[in-house]
Amino acid sequence: MIIIDTHAHLDFKDYDKDRDKVIEENKKAGVVAIINNGVDIASNRKVLELAKKYDIIKPALGFYPVHAVQVKEEEFDKELDFISKQDIVALGEVGLDYLKGEDNPFGDKYSKEMKACFEKFMALAEKKNIPIIVHSRRAELDMVEMLESSSLKPEKILVHCFMGRKHLVKRILDHGWSMSISAIVKKLQQLQLIVEQAPMNQLLTETDAPYQSPYPDIRRNEPRFIIEALKKIAEIKKLDIEEVANMIYKNYQAMF
Ligand SMILES: [Zn+2]
Repeated sequence: MIIIDTHAHLDFKDYDKDRDKVIEENKKAGVVAIINNGVDIASNRKVLELAKKYDIIKPALGFYPVHAVQVKEEEFDKELDFISKQDIVALGEVGLDYLKGEDNPFGDKYSKEMKACFEKFMALAEKKNIPIIVHSRRAELDMVEMLESSSLKPEKILVHCFMGRKHLVKRILDHGWSMSISAIVKKLQQLQLIVEQAPMNQLLTETDAPYQSPYPDIRRNEPRFIIEALKKIAEIKKLDIEEVANMIYKNYQAMF
């Protein structure tokens, strides 16, 4: 079975002790591509390093919205310039995040600044003609509206881990943008509804590893666990799981 992960963070310290082994096991399980998304300056460097070392890791560079507004504008622009010169498959992780929590102490306080950063990434995606992998949390409407106003081509937009309302999902799909589904679709009705709504050619699979493990007894997620997403998509779409895996692979090849 061919497994594709369009959104992972294998550069995170969670994998520092056994990264070689994890990559090896995932390859054996059928994983052929892991798009590793950078979240800040240090992470972006590490992503490039990993992509050089492991053939299945494909680099995407970005700036997680919460981190992006915590550096000075000059520093952000300098990083953007660095990213613009790299040979990468996509921009990510980028987007908007207004959810106040452990990793976002400011909530939507810097929404204006976040939008400015996101806008710069949209412009860069267009300039480089590469896909943009978009994160949005409690900012789904703003994100959709910003993308609608950009001149990015539909096949260059991948909405990751979308938890917005049904009418926004429809808007995303009507534009022809793609959505990636993680293995927590196994239990999360919101993601199941996206699978129901979306045509097969607009679906991709992801992990957000190390987060979002589909197994209650395994804390750290891995790309191979996407098998659970494939199973659920196959069930919802009434297709053979092998067929689903091949379709997702085709979608991946068409986009990246
Ligand atoms: Zn992520």
